[in-house]
Amino acid sequence: MEYQNTLQFAQSLDEQDPLKEFQQQFLVPKHNGKDAIYLCGNSLGLQPITARQYVNAQFSNWQNLAIEGFFEGDDPWLNYHQQLTGTLAGIVGAKKEEVSVMNSLTVNLHLLMVSFYIPTNKRFKILVEGGAFPSDQYAFASQARFHGFDPKEAIIEVFPREGESTLRTEDIVQQINTHADELALVLFGGINYYTGQFYDLPAISKAGHAAGAYVGFDLAHAAGNVMLKLHDWDIDFATWCSYKYMNSGPGGISGIFVHEMHFGNKALQRFEGWWGNRLDNRFLMAPQFDPEIGAAGWQLSTIPVMLLALHKASLDIFEQAGFATLRGKSESLTGYLEFLINGINHEEDEELFKIITPQNKEERGCQLSIVCKRNAKAIFNFLTANGVIGDWREPNVIRLSPVPLYNSFTQVFEAGRVLAAAARDWRSETRG
Ligand SMILES: *Cc1c(COP(=O)(O)O)cnc(C)c1O
Repeated sequence: MEYQNTLQFAQSLDEQDPLKEFQQQFLVPKHNGKDAIYLCGNSLGLQPITARQYVNAQFSNWQNLAIEGFFEGDDPWLNYHQQLTGTLAGIVGAKKEEVSVMNSLTVNLHLLMVSFYIPTNKRFKILVEGGAFPSDQYAFASQARFHGFDPKEAIIEVFPREGESTLRTEDIVQQINTHADELALVLFGGINYYTGQFYDLPAISKAGHAAGAYVGFDLAHAAGNVMLKLHDWDIDFATWCSYKYMNSGPGGISGIFVHEMHFGNKALQRFEGWWGNRLDNRFLMAPQFDPEIGAAGWQLSTIPVMLLALHKASLDIFEQAGFATLRGKSESLTGYLEFLINGINHEEDEELFKIITPQNKEERGCQLSIVCKRNAKAIFNFLTANGVIGDWREPNVIRLSPVPLYNSFTQVFEAGRVLAAAARDWRSETRG
């Protein structure tokens, strides 16, 4: 698409946007009495207006039915999760039985590592992305120690080459091959939280399996953001959170994926709980665990109905919008932001804003990570003061994520205008 840096152009894209009505389904924080330009869906997605109604419906069920709420009413709690797994499976490219909603992300990382990190004295290493999200790093290291290994030896981090910000697939594959005989697990991010790079999941999966390792992904920044085909890519397992691109509320319920090929895999251990037991005999309260077939067998506890209601409110919107349409708009929106930022660099005659997220739209989602070469914090504060909400990562990165469900081209245009003003401010400040 040939972009133009004019309000009229942005407005014309909004008029043609098949998803333009969806913005009205979300609540936006105010800045000076007007809606803020919220480009922070990578951290916490906005609240769907329906979220409160969905939770209120469950408050009513609790009030009117109490314990009978598990079995009675329009949507009995006992089966409530099954109303979510269809849409969720569509979003991550899985079969319905391959996904389940439960717990929170770091908890699920641990539970899935209990199953898929099966170290031996010879094969005990875990290959991960360098600079993974801290919680993931703590999970990897503590799992290695739990099995009696020194994380310094057991964890192999793959970093970008000198002078580069993102990883080359060939380097990831080469590291997998180099350590092939020692690898128990490849556990990668889907999209790196810092750079916004979307890794080549099928290539990593293929290389990991060729090395004889299990392969899993943390999809915190990928689920609900980019097209995934977890089943077709033969990924063993994955987990994600629902509060970033899936707008299901702070600390919202997490999801897991376990590939169908492992439904009968007797080598896998798992930590068991009664909610993973088959529904048809769960309440016989037998001493022997009789698991549900599929990802549901990993569930432990009574479902947190309120969190599921929040998640369902959001997933129903994804269902209406259609994920392919969302992704199409997302590529154009983020492309527009990129165009505007590059325009500022051009005007300023220097690369003040260096985008470290890959240029190729196949290698990124909504997010652009922008290194500010100078006055980074001041520029970030200027954005915030002007109602553009992004987020800040030390030492000098601003992350901006236009989200196709609730951001418009006009908002992206406006954010570009504020960034350009920040750049001009900086210039007059340092030269005058
Ligand atoms: C957001 C995020 C987390 C957060 O984990 P919680 O358990 O939900 O607090 C973990 N890992 C990655 C990669 C993330 O982006």
